[in-house]
Amino acid sequence: MTDEKLQKHYLTFETYLRRSKKEFEARIEGEMKITAQLEDFKLMKVLGTGSFGKVMLCKYKEDDNMYAMKIMEKVNIVRTKQVAHTISEIRFLDAFKFPFIVSLQHFFKNNVYVFLVMPFINGGEMFYHLRSLKKFEEHLAKFYTAQVILSFEYMHYLGIVYRDLKPENILIDSSGYLKITDLGFCKKIDSQRTYTLCGTPEYLAPEIILSQGYNYSVDWWSLGILIYEMCAGFPPFFAKDHMKLYEKIVSGKFSCPPHFSRAAKDLVTNILQVDRSKRFGVMKSGTKDIKGHDWFKGLDFDIVFAKKYKPTFIPVVQGQGDTKFFEPYGDMELREASFNEYDEEFKSMSLK
Ligand code: AMP
Repeated sequence: MTDEKLQKHYLTFETYLRRSKKEFEARIEGEMKITAQLEDFKLMKVLGTGSFGKVMLCKYKEDDNMYAMKIMEKVNIVRTKQVAHTISEIRFLDAFKFPFIVSLQHFFKNNVYVFLVMPFINGGEMFYHLRSLKKFEEHLAKFYTAQVILSFEYMHYLGIVYRDLKPENILIDSSGYLKITDLGFCKKIDSQRTYTLCGTPEYLAPEIILSQGYNYSVDWWSLGILIYEMCAGFPPFFAKDHMKLYEKIVSGKFSCPPHFSRAAKDLVTNILQVDRSKRFGVMKSGTKDIKGHDWFKGLDFDIVFAKKYKPTFIPVVQGQGDTKFFEPYGDMELREASFNEYDEEFKSMSLK
C-alpha cells in the first residue's frame, strides 16, 4: 500500500473502530439473552476440545443450519476457579462483531453445562492446513496475517488483549477467510498492565515468561511467531522441555530458513524484539510499522477488510456439515443432574 493509501485506510478504519466501540460497549453491558435450549439442537459429532469441554457439530432444528456448540461443564469451571474467565469469554464472544472473529449465535445453560453456539466454520483449523501443506506460500501467509492484524487492532481499540494466538485458534471458513476462535484468555486491560501467565508455550512473549507485567505487546509478539510459523512450517523457538524453550524465547535468538524473503525476515525480526521499546506494533507509530512494511507491499488492507480478494487457498467442502477438516475426537456423553448445579455462580453473567 502506498503511504497515501495507508493514510486513507487508517482514517476509514478508525471511523469503523469508533462506531464498533459504541456497539461493543452497549452489548457488553446488556443482559445476556437466552435464545435457545439444548432440545432445539441435534448433536452430531465432536469437532474439537478446549480447556473446559468439547465443541460439537450440531444442527439447529429451527433453521436446519449447522453450528458448533461449545459445551462446558459448570463443575469443572468452578473447581478450576475459571468462572470469571468463562463469563468474560461468553460476554466477549457475544459483544465482538468483526468479520474475522467468530461470533455467538446462542447461549444457554442447563443443570450441568453452559452452552455456546457459534456458526460452524467448516474449513477447519489453520493448524490442520499448515501441517498438511507443510508451510504456506508467503502471499497466503500475508493474506492471513493482514486479517489477524485487523482483528488485533479491533480488540485493542476496545481495550482487550487476546493472548492466545496460534494456528489451532484460527479457523478458515469455506470462502478462505479467517475466523479467530477461543476468546478464553481475552482480558479487558485498557491502559493497564496485567501479570497472568497464560497462553501457549511457543507463543509466549518474553515479558510474560519474565513476569514483567505486560499489555498489548504480547499479541504483537505472537503475531511475529505466527508469521514465522506460517512461512517456515515450524515456530522460531522450539524445545521439548519448557524451561529450555523459555530460555530461548527470552534470549530472542532465532534464525530464519533461507527461503524466507528479505522482507519476511526483516518484519519477523522487527516484531520478535525482546526489548518492547524496539518491537514493531508497540512503538509510537503503532501498527503503521507493520502495515506499512515492505512485506505488505501490494496488499490493500481495505480490500482484505471488505473480503474482496479471492483467496488463493479455499478449503473444498461438500456441504455445510462436512467435517473432513476436523480430526476425529470420539464421542461425548452428556451428563444429567436432578438439580441446577452451581446455579449461584453462573446466575449473574455480568463482568465483575
Ligand atoms: P475452543 O475451546 O474454542 O478452542 O475450541 C476447540 C476446537 O473446537 C477449536 O480448535 C476448533 O477445532 C473447534 N471449534 C471451535 N469453534 C468452532 C467453530 N465455530 N466452528 C468449527 N470448529 C470450531
